[in-house]
Amino acid sequence: MDMWLSESQIKDAAMTYKVKETLVRRKTPFQDLAIVDTEAFGRMLLLDGIVQTTINDEYVYHEMITHIPLLTHPNPKKVLVVGGGDGGTIREILKHPSIEKAVLCEIDEIVIEECKKYLPEISCALTDPKCEIFIGDGIKYVHEHKNEFDVVIIDSTDPFGAAEGLFGGSFYKEIYECLTDDGIFVAQTETPFYLPEVVKKVYDDAKAVFPITKLFMAGIPTYPSGYWSFTLGSKKYDPEKANVIDKYDLDTKYYTKRLHSASFVLPKFIEDLTK
Ligand code: SAM
Repeated sequence: MDMWLSESQIKDAAMTYKVKETLVRRKTPFQDLAIVDTEAFGRMLLLDGIVQTTINDEYVYHEMITHIPLLTHPNPKKVLVVGGGDGGTIREILKHPSIEKAVLCEIDEIVIEECKKYLPEISCALTDPKCEIFIGDGIKYVHEHKNEFDVVIIDSTDPFGAAEGLFGGSFYKEIYECLTDDGIFVAQTETPFYLPEVVKKVYDDAKAVFPITKLFMAGIPTYPSGYWSFTLGSKKYDPEKANVIDKYDLDTKYYTKRLHSASFVLPKFIEDLTK
């Protein structure tokens, strides 16, 4: 008998995956966690039935949310990741030679525990000595750390439940204060195809706080609509003007130095959201 997993993307559309095996399913204090093995995308982490990451396409998200801000900053030493318990963003951060410390602030320690067990390709850098793991709410952590990080990355679940407060103006003000004088912030900010109002609100909220605010895009097959936005706020450096060509090379599958500035070129319906 074939087993199929269906993730609804909007009320009237869903994405369906053929499942080989369910590796783990457990209720955590924060969410319903599952890791399943699928025919098309390999092992997949789901939280509350929503796909978070898969072995076959995780590189797009993790490379883009990391290398765009880290190569825009001339010398990033200390980076904070809020969420990101699968470890993919930490793995990409630690590819940068200037990094001295990467802090992961994840609210749900069971996500880390199960990803270490079942998704070692993604979570492999969580045991690196440069990675410091803090279990707790990112909102509180950011509030309690001022002028400390060169880059803050919000690698969160969608804007509901524990992650709701990670989207919006008051949190972006706190991030501004958590960053050093030339710091950069980036967040995953949903799909403009299905959720234009969310993308616009996040962009407008970030723009009210950061002197330089830009939206960039990436193609991620397992995220709703396959077309995902990231919002970047910067105190000093413009990601489109960063001289990435002269920088060190990275081992990547999606990010390239030419793609760096190209990812900020937006289709009209998305560009309109930034006006
Ligand atoms: N790449 C993913 C995506 O866009 O679907 C995000 C993956 S990562 C697993 C998201 C993590 O954010 C989850 O493990 C969740 O527990 C964590 N999270 C949600 N709200 C949080 C908060 N307020 N503070 C810290 N971590 C949070």
